[in-house]
Amino acid sequence: MSDCLFCKIAAGEIPSTCLYDDENVYAFRDINPQAPVHFLVIPKQHIDSVAAVSAENSAAVARCFEVIAKVAEQEGLENGYRVISNCGADGGQTVHHLHFHVLGGKPLGEKIL
Ligand code: 5GP
Ligand code: ZN
Repeated sequence: MSDCLFCKIAAGEIPSTCLYDDENVYAFRDINPQAPVHFLVIPKQHIDSVAAVSAENSAAVARCFEVIAKVAEQEGLENGYRVISNCGADGGQTVHHLHFHVLGGKPLGEKIL
């Protein structure tokens, strides 16, 4: 998608702090961190949100989770972390390219589940 912020970040057209990059997945630090470690993992393929995951594109999602585990280890999150994907208006999604927030580096406290 030509007008998508995270497509542009994945393509290197908008700068970001890269933590992992391969042909399918990109991981980078969130610009407004909500924990000592807060990074985002995205498929390079544009998928709008969790609601748009299907049998045709779910391999990209699986690859994102492989990268979540790898980068979490790289970032020293051996005590654990939280993975969040906000979906749609009620979920509070602001960037409409599927992304997984990974938060850690301290006890995260407030759980809603
Ligand atoms: P959402 O609210 O859609 O779940 O998450 C979007 C996330 O993207 C937010 O945590 C926000 O801080 C982050 N974000 C928005 N714009 C940029 C940007 O230009 N660069 C980076 N690195 N993160 C961004
Ligand atoms: Zn996109």
